[in-house]
Amino acid sequence: MRIDILTLFPDVVGDMLCESILGRGQERGFIRIECHQIRDYTTNKQKQVDDYPYGGGRGCVMLAEPLYNCWKAICDEAGRKIHTIFVSPCGSVFKQKDACRLQAEHDRFIIVCGRYEGIDERFIEMCVDEELSIGDYVLTGGEIPAMVIADAVCRLVPGVLPDEECLTNESHWDGLLEYPQYTRPEVWQGKKVPEVLLSGHHENINKWRSEQSIERTRIRRPDMFEKL
Ligand code: SAM
Repeated sequence: MRIDILTLFPDVVGDMLCESILGRGQERGFIRIECHQIRDYTTNKQKQVDDYPYGGGRGCVMLAEPLYNCWKAICDEAGRKIHTIFVSPCGSVFKQKDACRLQAEHDRFIIVCGRYEGIDERFIEMCVDEELSIGDYVLTGGEIPAMVIADAVCRLVPGVLPDEECLTNESHWDGLLEYPQYTRPEVWQGKKVPEVLLSGHHENINKWRSEQSIERTRIRRPDMFEKL
């Protein structure tokens, strides 16, 4: 899996995605994440990447041309059009099923990060295949959403996590939230680990976890519980 991220802050995004599990995934060649500085693709002397919006209003809008030049350089190098995502609060909300779909259907894709008031709509019409939001709120830039999507997809790539169970036991995999987890010590601040987890009886432990998982989903996420 290869992900190319178009951003005005490539160092921040690149550094974050080089750490821990994703870093090891990159070192071992299972995934590759390349961050591209949009400003390097400007054609004006000031390396300007934004301008005032037509029609007036506050703030600035990112110019289509540097985005297009950067996007085209990546596609030209690949010799084909690459599936392109623009992260935007106007997109459909990114879910685990989208992470699974992107991992299953694409060996590589591009993520475009907006800043300011967003990007010129004509770039979206010409180059973007889907718009994804990470939730119903507005952030200052697309870098955090891009990292969220890259992380959620990359951990699904075979080899990145030690085994498949790491994925299938987690919240949202099968429409449930995960059961509560505990580690040592057995008693902390007077609070004891549930007895069943100390019993060594795997069948009972699995039953308890499954019940906890269902109950937690029912209480915390009635919308998910409804769909079960
Ligand atoms: N004016 C835009 C609007 O009202 O929809 C918001 C622009 S926001 C300040 C700047 C950039 O941050 C966006 O272009 C987008 O790339 C990113 N962004 C902000 N919130 C986001 C979210 N919830 N999901 C995905 N991207 C987001």
